[in-house]
Amino acid sequence: MDRKINFLNTSSRSSYIKHILNRNFDVLIIGGGITGAGICLDAASRGLNVCLIEMNDFASGTSSKSTKLIHGGLRYLEQLKFRLVHETGSERSILHDLAPHIVKAEKMLLPIIKNGKLNKISTKAALLVYDYLANVKGDDRNKVLSKNQILDKEPLLKSNNLLGGAIYSEYRTDDSRLTIDLIKKSIDYGACPINYVKGDDFTYNKKGLINGIKCSDKFSDEIININSKIIINATGSWTDEVLKSRSKKLVLSKGIHIVVPKNKFNINQSVYFDAIDSRMIFAIPRDGTVYIGTTDTKFEHGKDKLDVLEKEVEYLIDSVKNTFSISIDKKDVISSWVGLRPLVKDGNKKVTEISRKDEIFISEKGLITIAGGKLTGYRKMAQRAVDLAFRSLKMKSKKSKTKSIKLFKYNKEFCRKKFNENGMTDKNFERLYNIYGDGCLEVLKIFHKENISKDFIFAEYLYVIRYEMCHTLLDFFTQRNSAVYFEIDQVNRYLDILEKHLVKRKFFKKDKWKKEKVNLKRYMSRITTFN
Ligand code: FAD
Repeated sequence: MDRKINFLNTSSRSSYIKHILNRNFDVLIIGGGITGAGICLDAASRGLNVCLIEMNDFASGTSSKSTKLIHGGLRYLEQLKFRLVHETGSERSILHDLAPHIVKAEKMLLPIIKNGKLNKISTKAALLVYDYLANVKGDDRNKVLSKNQILDKEPLLKSNNLLGGAIYSEYRTDDSRLTIDLIKKSIDYGACPINYVKGDDFTYNKKGLINGIKCSDKFSDEIININSKIIINATGSWTDEVLKSRSKKLVLSKGIHIVVPKNKFNINQSVYFDAIDSRMIFAIPRDGTVYIGTTDTKFEHGKDKLDVLEKEVEYLIDSVKNTFSISIDKKDVISSWVGLRPLVKDGNKKVTEISRKDEIFISEKGLITIAGGKLTGYRKMAQRAVDLAFRSLKMKSKKSKTKSIKLFKYNKEFCRKKFNENGMTDKNFERLYNIYGDGCLEVLKIFHKENISKDFIFAEYLYVIRYEMCHTLLDFFTQRNSAVYFEIDQVNRYLDILEKHLVKRKFFKKDKWKKEKVNLKRYMSRITTFN
């Protein structure tokens, strides 16, 4: 790796692209969601020469639109997917060890109601099997609760239909931050991931096998040819577009989440509860908000039509009102997001019935495609894809190391100490640590060095453009710090501070600033108005 270039600094982009063009890669990955990012780290840490291209920002696809749970998938037991439950369940504690700043233990409350999806006996049995398959130990094991015990834990639950319930262990995460941390870590192992480069077409050798890709730089429109012995298609819901095959491999399922202020839905902890139909949904507190989701409906339109619909918001609100004694309305919704599950087609099965397991296939021309799966299983998916890449390269495979590659250098207490030594409040520390992990130390350094604003937002912005390849305001407020979802009431204030300093210091020309702000506002309007 050319150590003189900080690949993650947006100002190095043109030298970084030149660096990529001069290489002949072993593996090129198309797609910078969790699947591609996981493969990038696995392959680079096993000694392969790796490039990754992402046509928008890293994690801007489904990998920032999930329920943000690292979970064994209790509901997959219903589909008798024991291997999936075992694999994803066991992954949870591994991911917690690798990234404790973004994979955090979370107790999930499971109310059982009259005529609901669950009954006491089957739930108890299912949770026992779940704990066994997911290797849940000690205090983390599930507990069955009486009606009074569950009401003690969550007084907002309606008591008339309530029969009892259970509490079990899950982990919550930040999907886009996890993806970005993997991308950043892969660079330490010599990988070359780059965003805003779109793969348009393949190039072939004399035998007709793929040996590279024609791409376009989305900022300059320049055409770039990148050489690679193997190409892996990890494009999630875009898989069929990249495959250009006549028969579709995937079926897409749409899922939405809505965000309401905590004071409108003041639950004590995460709850997995019956929706108004025969499905179950989550309510998960985060910062000063609670998010609720999700839906699961077949999506057959163009991706530009991917918006949250009023009827979907009503479905989630009605489901909340059906289970909890609160007065809440769709006008209380302050934000939302919508994503597409890339599911591998399985005959004529409905999207709700299709397994979430991943599949890998290789085309006649040598393109490896990995599709389906879950955020939770990204590490194992990566391992399988890279094992296949080694076989295709006819190289002796090295063992995957990602089980021991930590995504942080300094632990929470060390970071807190540094903040305290610098006279910062715990509130400032917690917010920055929860977003950037030990990257918060660099934000602190920039904050002191620039000494320009009393608010951290300016230092945060400089951090992401210097150390996270963040190119736009929209990417900053979505994939980088999720402010448009969980701090939407602060975004205008943040924008005022940024505008004052960024335009003044010529980071932005006035017209560029205006354009970026319009893009951000347009997105904010899309996630707050529902038709
Ligand atoms: P994506 O994140 O979509 O990444 C694919 C990337 O490829 C995109 O960024 C796209 O821009 C890029 N791309 C496409 N074409 C090209 C091209 N030609 N050139 C360059 N780049 C290209 N899983 C869990 O484990 N826990 C959950 O709680 C959970 N909740 C979910 C809730 C919902 C509503 C949904 C929809 C999914 C949920 N999932 C969950 C599943 C999980 O989010 C997905 O399985 C995962 O994010 C898919 O990641 P991916 O990298 O395959 O796809």
